[in-house]
Amino acid sequence: MDCIFCKIVAGEIPSVKVYEDDSVLAFMDINPLNNGHLLIIPKAHAATIHEISEADFLAVMSATHRLAAAVREALNPDGINLLQLNGKAANQVVPHLHVHIVPRWSGDGLTVSQWNLVSGDMERIKGVAEQIQKALK
Ligand code: 5GP
Ligand code: ZN
Repeated sequence: MDCIFCKIVAGEIPSVKVYEDDSVLAFMDINPLNNGHLLIIPKAHAATIHEISEADFLAVMSATHRLAAAVREALNPDGINLLQLNGKAANQVVPHLHVHIVPRWSGDGLTVSQWNLVSGDMERIKGVAEQIQKALK
């Protein structure tokens, strides 16, 4: 499989590892948005949230929870962004599921979490909530 993160799992491409267990690997992002930016991935290839098994996703999220605590302990950031992108339209570049942990400091100037907040139409919001609820399995 021609996947850069699978190659990292296999040790064919070097990485700065932070944590590893049977199903998950965490390593530092090579282009950090901030000091301490790291990635958590399943060892088994899955491109997005739609391909990964629930068990592997939970393992990734469980490791993310522990690593966020470790980042806080280690770096004492003012905040942490978790980012997880699915698909080109969502700006996913590497098609092997990953969660970013991005430590944040007040006034660091990053724009990763700066969205324009515009009030929504309540009827539309309720309508889409119903649609999602109906699709819930
Ligand atoms: P996304 O797919 O969520 O947009 O981001 C992919 C992330 O993977 C980027 O933050 C990028 O810096 C990181 N990345 C891409 N190639 C490598 C690599 O070879 N090694 C490491 N450690 N990170 C990488
Ligand atoms: Zn892969």
